[in-house]
Amino acid sequence: MQSLSLMVVAVVLHGSFLTHLGAAQPLNDGGLHVVRYDGRLIASVDATSAGDLDRLEEIGAEMISCELSPAGGDFILTPVQLLAVKAMGYQAEVKQPDLQAAIDLESARIRESLVSYRQRGVNSDGFFDDYRPLPEIDAFIDDLVARRPDLVSRFEIGQSFEGRTIWGLRISADTSGCKPAFVLNGITHAREWLTVMNVLYLAEQLVDGYGVDEEITDIVDRVEWLIIPVLNPDGYEYTWTTSRFWRHNRRPPGGVDLNRNYSVQWRPSGSHGAGPFSEPETASLRDFVLSNPQVRAHNDTHSYSNLVLFPWAWLTQPCPDHEEYQALGDAMNARIAVANPGNQPWEVGPLSTTLYRIAGGSTDWFYVEANAMSFLYELRGSGFDPPPSSILPGSRDTFGATLLHAKHVADRSTFRADIDGNCVFDLDDVLAFLIAFASDEPRADFDLDTDVDFDDVLAFLVAFGEMS
Ligand SMILES: [Zn+2]
Repeated sequence: MQSLSLMVVAVVLHGSFLTHLGAAQPLNDGGLHVVRYDGRLIASVDATSAGDLDRLEEIGAEMISCELSPAGGDFILTPVQLLAVKAMGYQAEVKQPDLQAAIDLESARIRESLVSYRQRGVNSDGFFDDYRPLPEIDAFIDDLVARRPDLVSRFEIGQSFEGRTIWGLRISADTSGCKPAFVLNGITHAREWLTVMNVLYLAEQLVDGYGVDEEITDIVDRVEWLIIPVLNPDGYEYTWTTSRFWRHNRRPPGGVDLNRNYSVQWRPSGSHGAGPFSEPETASLRDFVLSNPQVRAHNDTHSYSNLVLFPWAWLTQPCPDHEEYQALGDAMNARIAVANPGNQPWEVGPLSTTLYRIAGGSTDWFYVEANAMSFLYELRGSGFDPPPSSILPGSRDTFGATLLHAKHVADRSTFRADIDGNCVFDLDDVLAFLIAFASDEPRADFDLDTDVDFDDVLAFLVAFGEMS
């Protein structure tokens, strides 16, 4: 303990550390997690309906899962509440008997890891050794941009409720022609810390793999990646400084659940916020996406439950593109299964029937209003964020699956009608297509059925008609 204190003093005396502490104080003594959970435990409860959730919340139970599932959810309870839950007829199994002790252990570990990470210089290897607060995330983004300014840039989508900038990373090779864009975001729910590590791992792999790995190079050539690591910076900051299990944004008094604040299927009961897009975080994302009409893919990353989910989030019937979603989801799942030794297949399906009905969720809005194929991951784990040894595997889990999603969208994109690659959809493209068609070139296989026939002309004309 004494050596750790000395290390802290030594690092504090080093000027750069003070700058970081000025922005956030995750390491100040006693400041980490002011909200305490003494005498609380986490139990899995077989609560599956909105009515169940209401009943449990009435007795003061706090759900810790991202969403309820058909198997139930995990709740923070006192031992007395646990008895009450059982008396109400629910099955309840204790997963974490001493929550505050678990938080204290995590805090001590992170404090130590952060001190040594900062000593080594925030941009060094080791970012993924443990969870990281906002200043380190910021520096990591800067480092990626500095590494490949030809490939990466940083952009701002807007400001949070408390005035923090919501940053994005654009990764795109400067290749000719139009391409579809893929929006990914982490940290919708503040406490789901693995999600920001997961999307930053993706960003780093795309940057470092470009020109080295064939699959990555191809997909960075063909897709514009727009990665928003922390959609909810206020909530995230609050989970570091004050309350480890905060979920919402920071609008007083209790915050708004951002994944209930989108306009599609927003409803006064079941959704969140004064109205659709009442929150600056979701409104910023909406405005950013609508000002980028090339967006065709989206992923909202959450944790935990090992799930690949897609629309509908609210309606329980299959969405119009259900078969395409299910087939791609299954293929993505197969990549997840081989991403790390011993990975089990996850579950794949519509959000509403696989997990829980969500009103005003992100996937329905991206699907309906943004013309994007939208998935939602529930990353690995069966408890609040997995140990640091699981951060890299938990980031690798979905990497190949996300590439597959991007490739699917690029393969089928109507942007392919820009045959001559000048990003203008005009008669030159029709001519270029017909020439390719006449000489049986592979790129004339527009419907991707491996032979070049009249169906390809039709498919091309449909795509061309949509773009011109
Ligand atoms: Zn979530």
